[in-house]
Amino acid sequence: MSTAPDASREGSLDAPTRHPLDWRNPEFYDESALNRELERVFDICHGCRRCVSLCHAFPTLFDLVDESTTMEVDGVDKADYAKVVDQCYLCDLCYQTKCPYVPPHPWNVDFPHLMLRAKAFHHRRGETGLGAKILSSTTAVGKLASIPIVVDVVNAANRNGVARKLMDKTLGVHPEARIPEYHARTARKRLAKLDRGGAAPQPAGRTRGKLALFATCYCNVSQPAIVEDLAAVLAHNGIAVKLVEREACCGMPKLELGDLESVAKYKEKNIPVLAAAVREGWDITAPIPSCVLMFRQELPLMFPDDADVQLVREHIFDPFEYLWTRHRAGLLRTDFANPLGKVALHAPCHQRVQNIGPKTRDVLALVPGTELHAIERCSGHDGTYGVKSATYAIARKIAKPVENRVRQVEADHFASDCPMAASHLAHGMGDSPRAESPIGLLRHAYGI
Ligand code: SF4
Ligand code: SF4
Repeated sequence: MSTAPDASREGSLDAPTRHPLDWRNPEFYDESALNRELERVFDICHGCRRCVSLCHAFPTLFDLVDESTTMEVDGVDKADYAKVVDQCYLCDLCYQTKCPYVPPHPWNVDFPHLMLRAKAFHHRRGETGLGAKILSSTTAVGKLASIPIVVDVVNAANRNGVARKLMDKTLGVHPEARIPEYHARTARKRLAKLDRGGAAPQPAGRTRGKLALFATCYCNVSQPAIVEDLAAVLAHNGIAVKLVEREACCGMPKLELGDLESVAKYKEKNIPVLAAAVREGWDITAPIPSCVLMFRQELPLMFPDDADVQLVREHIFDPFEYLWTRHRAGLLRTDFANPLGKVALHAPCHQRVQNIGPKTRDVLALVPGTELHAIERCSGHDGTYGVKSATYAIARKIAKPVENRVRQVEADHFASDCPMAASHLAHGMGDSPRAESPIGLLRHAYGI
């Protein structure tokens, strides 16, 4: 018999809201309080089970319940709660797309943020492994690995079977997982002279016509062409564009570990720079949905009283959301030179949960001779989940339905708004088709 609290109605008819993350309250890290909240929410989920197909966290929970002596949450050993927590990669889909019991419903279920609280508890107890710490230090690793000469050594080691076995043993990185290539000519080096601030900006809707690029750790050192493509498309459309003056990691990889103190440190580095750019009339964008989500949702919930965090939240955009807003005002060029043919387009979770609609699909659909096949399913990459030895096999399993769909489409191009998801999926398909980026496709369509 479920012990879930009573509520006046099934589901909520009110618009969902999200409570700030109370991460500075000592009770946030109190083991008994945490276990009480986990038991309460797990019990609601056990009675509901809507999310069973979303990820591996829910099947893990339901198996624990079904295999317990009572077949209820009270029969599950609290030490096993961590098994559920370990399977959550904070994609946010359960909160944003499935759960009828999110606030203001009185049951007040915020499953991702409860998982985050549990991760923060375990991190504070020193349970984060060395491998996870290194993998999530994207700024430091990227800086080191992109030094000329070092870059060749790192890339060669990443392809070497013996080195990969060693990485498996020491860092917990699965030997078959695809890990990023590094480039000495980073995006920030390639675009160092980019500053088109002189053009007279034309506002449209919420966009002000001046866009500062947050290159992101991953694209800066591993996929610099994506940042170049983005800058080229923006400039082609008369949008003033520059790189943000300085940047550190957005903090998402540390958030996924529950390392909230490191998230706060990155926030101290990024927010003053971004807020200053916003005050000078620049909007902000980033070529990775997770990084946009960090500034748009997670930091504002961690720092609800920080005016600069809230200012950045109001002025950060998904790149295609920006382009689509300009199109609605008649400011996007549609004089395309090349058709794209059939495109299999994966929409990553961290973009879908931004509630902006399928803007990448809408913009690419403007290109004549283009047939879009949108795939809205988890790629299984999800930060470090798709490379860790402990979760790689499950990550591959999660990716399978997306890969099957891409193959069925027999597309001329396969792209995802998340370059890491694209790479993970292409790896599973033996790079046939290879991964591309939607902004690269748009640049190709323009013929620029
Ligand atoms: S946030 Fe994503 S990974 Fe975590 S429990 Fe919800 S659906 Fe699963
Ligand atoms: S998160 Fe919400 S929708 Fe998902 S299983 Fe739990 S109660 Fe049900």
